[in-house]
Amino acid sequence: MAIDVLAGKVSAGGRLSANEALELYLEAPTHLLGRLAHDARGRKHRDRTVTYIIDRNVNYTNVCVARCSFCAFYRPVGSADGYVLGFDEVFRKIEETIELGGGQLLLQGGHNPDLPIEWYEDLFRGVKARYPGFKLHALSSPEVLHISRLSQVTVPEVIRRLVEAGLDSIPGGGAEILVDRVRKLLHCYSKASSDEWLDVMRHAHRAGLRTTATMMYGSVETPAERIEHMMRLRELQDETGGFTAFIAWSYQPDHTELRGVEATGLEYLRTLAVARLVLDNIDNLQASWVTQGGKVGQLSLSYGANDMGSVMIEENVVRAAGAAYCMDEVEIVRNIEDAGYVPRRRNMHYEILGEPVFRERTIPRLLELATARAEGDSSVPVELVNYPARSPAERERRHAS
Ligand code: SF4
Repeated sequence: MAIDVLAGKVSAGGRLSANEALELYLEAPTHLLGRLAHDARGRKHRDRTVTYIIDRNVNYTNVCVARCSFCAFYRPVGSADGYVLGFDEVFRKIEETIELGGGQLLLQGGHNPDLPIEWYEDLFRGVKARYPGFKLHALSSPEVLHISRLSQVTVPEVIRRLVEAGLDSIPGGGAEILVDRVRKLLHCYSKASSDEWLDVMRHAHRAGLRTTATMMYGSVETPAERIEHMMRLRELQDETGGFTAFIAWSYQPDHTELRGVEATGLEYLRTLAVARLVLDNIDNLQASWVTQGGKVGQLSLSYGANDMGSVMIEENVVRAAGAAYCMDEVEIVRNIEDAGYVPRRRNMHYEILGEPVFRERTIPRLLELATARAEGDSSVPVELVNYPARSPAERERRHAS
């Protein structure tokens, strides 16, 4: 079909098939894709508001048995660089987040065989007992699946127990590309197949949780597989309506087993624009400034994004693979306003919380994102002895100490 016919279909609110989306993705001029995506965004968000959230990305452990080939963050079981955060460390991070105006942790980590479901329940209960209004946006689909397998509890039961302990919503991490050929090449099929990733989200939505959805593109997948990924998300969203947002980011190759090169900024903008056109049932698209930098992040607002993501405060995963961008609230607001939009703080449900915090009270500037732990800190949390160690390496470490 001619590109102008497809453009007309999209402009009239028509739904793209996979083949039509692929044709647009491969053939449409970038400025046309941008205009179509910007118009689609405008049909969903009629005012000039661009939202963002103040939260903190906390990675509770880097010990992981999944060993995805694109990941530079994980450490094998028994590694001297492996860590698990103590409950007190997490509480301290929450207090720092509240001081900066934040109200949520994005809590994710490796698939650690020595953390049974009770560890998560105790942590969540501890958080909610100390900070009742604070939100836990925690544990991606593959982590839920890992807990289910490790603790021999069904996925719906894991979700029920974690919600009871304080889980508020589930982040869309671990989706990578929802095509099993790609997942096998990336060594992430065994942590969760495409169907399994989607099924955890389905259970979460049925349990009344809202979640996000992500895509890591630019590794080994074809353009058609990127579109297939979007189609699978669109199908589930038709069924459940549980996704609040979609976030695409480019594979970061440094220090990974897979290596390769990073996709360019133009490829990011084209991918984002096509996602806005395909995902006609997901309201919010975030700009991934953490992988693209502030300048491309700002441009994203003209390519379909209506949200600048998170102030973040802390980041460990993308940084390990070579990207170390930092924007605090002042900088995010400056980028939004400079692009001609009105910045508003939001929560995970995209409810507006208000004006930028720094205009209401003095908060410290954040010129570098924090890390999980200070360099050289290899402390082991005291409460870990309350949970049975499953890995021989951890049993040996405990015996020695
Ligand atoms: S991406 Fe997640 S699951 Fe995969 S190796 Fe890294 S920490 Fe583990």
